[in-house]
Amino acid sequence: MSPLLIHGEERHRQPAVFYPVIVCDVCGGRIADLRDGNYYWGPDLALPDPRTDAPVLFAHKTCNFRFERQYGRRAFEDLRRLPMFLWRNGGYSDREIRDALRERGLGL
Ligand SMILES: [Zn+2]
Repeated sequence: MSPLLIHGEERHRQPAVFYPVIVCDVCGGRIADLRDGNYYWGPDLALPDPRTDAPVLFAHKTCNFRFERQYGRRAFEDLRRLPMFLWRNGGYSDREIRDALRERGLGL
C-alpha cells in the first residue's frame, strides 16, 4: 500500500528526471492521466466503528468495482481534485498556489 512513488527516468533522459507518480492499488498500473483515477479517502464504510484516520488509496476508474471488492466501499473523489485539497489543507494561500505554479512554468 504505497501508491505514491518517485519515478526515475535516468536511463532515457540526460540529466535524469525524477517525478512523483500514482499507482493503482488494484492493478498496480500507473495512473498516468489523473482523469482516469479516483482517490479513496475515507474508512471502509461497512466497518461498525470506522476510524477517523484512514489511508488514502488510489485506483483507475475502470478498477473501481475490483477496488470495492478488495477494500470495501469508501468515500472517493476524482483524482484531479486531490492536489487542490492537499494545497488547501497544507496552508497554501491562493497567491502561494499561483506563485508555486509559476515557478515551475505551470502558471495560471
Ligand atoms: Zn487499475
